[in-house]
Formats: sequence, C-alpha cells, structure tokens
Amino acid sequence: MNIEIKLAKNYGFCFGVQRAIEMSENNPNSSTIGPIIHNPREIARLKKEFYVDMVDGEEDINRLEENSSAIVRTHGIPKEKLDLLKNKNINIIDATCPYVTKIQKICDKASKDGYEVVIFGDRNHPEVQGIKSYAGDKVYIALDIDALKNENISNKVILVSQTTKKQKKFEEIASFLKEKCSELKVHNTICDATLKNQEAIKELSKEVDTLIVIGGLNSSNTKELFNISKENCENTYLVSGSSDIQKTFFDSSKKCGISAGASTPKWIIDEVINKIKNL
Ligand code: SF4
Repeated sequence: MNIEIKLAKNYGFCFGVQRAIEMSENNPNSSTIGPIIHNPREIARLKKEFYVDMVDGEEDINRLEENSSAIVRTHGIPKEKLDLLKNKNINIIDATCPYVTKIQKICDKASKDGYEVVIFGDRNHPEVQGIKSYAGDKVYIALDIDALKNENISNKVILVSQTTKKQKKFEEIASFLKEKCSELKVHNTICDATLKNQEAIKELSKEVDTLIVIGGLNSSNTKELFNISKENCENTYLVSGSSDIQKTFFDSSKKCGISAGASTPKWIIDEVINKIKNL
C-alpha cells in the first residue's frame, strides 16, 4: 500500500509511565497494586519477563506475604489501600507519578485547612479515586459544570484536575466556581505530557486523511487523543495493536497520522507502523 506515514510531534510514553516501567523491571517478583499502567499488553510483558504480578482488591492485598514487595501503580491508590500495605509490613515501591502525588498532597493539606475540594475528573478512574481519598469529607467530583450546579458549594473551595483532562473544560469549571464560592483556589494539575500529546495530535489531524491512535482501550488519555483527532479527521481509529488494523481504514487515504497514548510502549507503536507499511 502506497501511503505516507507521519508521526505526531509528541506521542507515547510520558515520564511517569517510563519511571513506573523501570521501577517494575528493577523489582522483579513484586506485586503491583492495580494495573501499573493502562496498557494490558505491556503489563503482560512485565509479567512474563519480570514475574511482576497484579493484585487489586483488599482481599488480595491481605493475602500478600509479609515483607514481600508491592509496586504502587502510576495513577496512585487510595490512602486506605496504602495503609493496608503499611500495616502488613509490605515493602512499598511507590511508582505513583510525582504529578499525581502532588495532587494528593494538595488535597490532603486543603481538607485539613478546612477547604472543600472539587475534582474535575471521572469518578470511576483509579487516579480520581486515589485523589478523593486524600480530600476529606467535603469533596465533589465533576466532569462539567452541570454536575456542580445543584451542589451546595459556597465556602472555601479548591479546584484540582485529573491529570489527563482537557484545559478548556477545566477553565469553564474554574470560572463557574469563581462566581459561586466565597474563596476559590485553583490548582491546574493537568499534566504537561498529556497536553503536549493533545496539541500534537490536534495539528496532525488537520493534515492527514486517516489517523491511528495506539493505546490501551482502558486508557483515559488515549481516548482523549482519539476524541481530539476525530474533531478534524473523521477517519480516526483507536487500536490496541497491529491485529486491530484493517485495510479498509485506509481506503482512498494518502497520508496516515500516528499518535499513541502516554502508556503505549514503543514496541507496540513499531508493530502497528510495520503492519500498515506491509498491508
Ligand atoms: S500522563 Fe502525566 S501525570 Fe500521567 S503518568 Fe504521565 S507524566 Fe504522570
């Protein structure tokens, strides 16, 4: 197939994920608390090559042997789970991305100082569940203004964001809260790496006729890349690897763009590019 392939200016592994992978490789035979990153294929590789296995719920954690090693996932875990590990004398290897740890600390301090906490994010996302556990009792989780309109928020409030969310929506929520609260502190905790990948795909999606976003289907930042690209390029596809690539994606396509989520390793990106080249 005669098609030009162009990579986004920024794509793929971010610093936090790279760090977590290295920590896992350096600590073979450990357990990870939840998936270390949102990429099932990379997790399978770590399991096969470094015997790093995953546990999740409280029961699993309770079954861990004393003095064994556990790696905390990149997006962090709720405080209660961390306490459980500490109480069991587990050797904790904290691979929580420092950007996420920063949000947890902001929320911890703010709640102790009497602030209510608004988290712009998805309540089912593990990162948000972890952050929430540090935010005290008065915490609101919202994906947009509508979710906050009927809430009784009026006092001292801080606003933080899940790291992978969109800037524009965050600003909308900040403006809304400014009107509603007597005191508002805004902490823009959207991650730079995610932003750079988002900017790059936005540009790329304007100049290609097909765009392939590679990443775990459970990865929030990958889905966000897909949504941004779709705004400009109708032929945008989200794939987890080369087996998802279909020839029909490229019908009458001359230029194909490639981007990848922050938890997508290079070996999967290479695999997809090779498949496209060999179609
Ligand atoms: S996307 Fe940003 S916050 Fe998330 S792991 Fe990567 S560097 Fe950390």
